[in-house]
Amino acid sequence: MSDSRQPPARPWPKLGDMTNVIFEGIEPTDLREVLASGVDQGGNPIQPFIDADGGWPMRCCLADSLPGDEVAIIAWSPFRWQGPYRETGPIVVHTNGCSSTWQAAALPEEFDQRPMILRPYGAEHSILYELVSPISAGSGLNAAVGALLERPEVAEVYGRNVRGGCFAFVARRA
Ligand SMILES: [Zn+2]
Repeated sequence: MSDSRQPPARPWPKLGDMTNVIFEGIEPTDLREVLASGVDQGGNPIQPFIDADGGWPMRCCLADSLPGDEVAIIAWSPFRWQGPYRETGPIVVHTNGCSSTWQAAALPEEFDQRPMILRPYGAEHSILYELVSPISAGSGLNAAVGALLERPEVAEVYGRNVRGGCFAFVARRA
């Protein structure tokens, strides 16, 4: 039996080498459970509606919604740990299924069209304030996330919309 406590030696990712980063929206299993309950993580009843125009940033499939999609705005915590830095806030999700491409090696182009704030967290689940980075639209979001994850003190990077502060994605070393 191999000793699973010994991780293999691996160099830190190089800038721009996105093969070592995984981007995630929200877990489809967790989402299905919440949708089935009819109540979001903030205790609010879930009220689906038809998205007439499209263009909502979906967190279940890391893509923008299409006209006619059934969606809902729900309170959600993207954090997989407990602690004072764990937050719950509004996200938009499909309510009747979707491609569920919630994990990707790079963010799709439309993510780079909106200004973002990158908020890195350390292994102790607190914000690394000195590394919080505003990223302007079109300036290379994937590379900016990769550069933060090169730093050994960064465990996770949460992307949030600048204006609303809403959760957009989380990135970790793959
Ligand atoms: Zn979706």
